[in-house]
Amino acid sequence: MSKSNDPGLNPTTDATAVADSIWKSILSETEYKILRHSATEAPGTGRYLNNEEEGFYHCAGCAQKLYAAEHKFHSGCGWPSFYDEVEAGAVKTYVDTSHGRTRTEMRCGRCDGHLGHIFQDAPQTPTGTRHCVNGYAVLFVPTGKDPQEALAEHRSKQQD
Ligand SMILES: [Zn+2]
Repeated sequence: MSKSNDPGLNPTTDATAVADSIWKSILSETEYKILRHSATEAPGTGRYLNNEEEGFYHCAGCAQKLYAAEHKFHSGCGWPSFYDEVEAGAVKTYVDTSHGRTRTEMRCGRCDGHLGHIFQDAPQTPTGTRHCVNGYAVLFVPTGKDPQEALAEHRSKQQD
């Protein structure tokens, strides 16, 4: 897999035009199922649930900066929860009517990868909003670390 075809390592790529076969080759199996096929990790099983480190959460597909650690809070829902996106446009929202419910789905603003759902059930936060994020849809990058470098390391480990 050449780095130039990996939208996470090449910021100039049109990340919405990446072929499914390329996503499959660069993402872990779990990341691929969640980001590209809207799967949901079982509650309490994803990465970063209890991560308290300072930094940012980037898209595990394309490295777009999505969430700041300072907006992370303990919702008790079993998935990493944030009360806001890092900046307007970081995520896109869609109406999701699957499973007989109407929910707000959020996707990565750059590659359109599925991240999770947004709920208005967090009155304890400044926004009242809970971005319920699959841990495997994102990659945590500690403050001071280069996101592309962090993603390249992550890809090379072939981990979940
Ligand atoms: Zn993305």
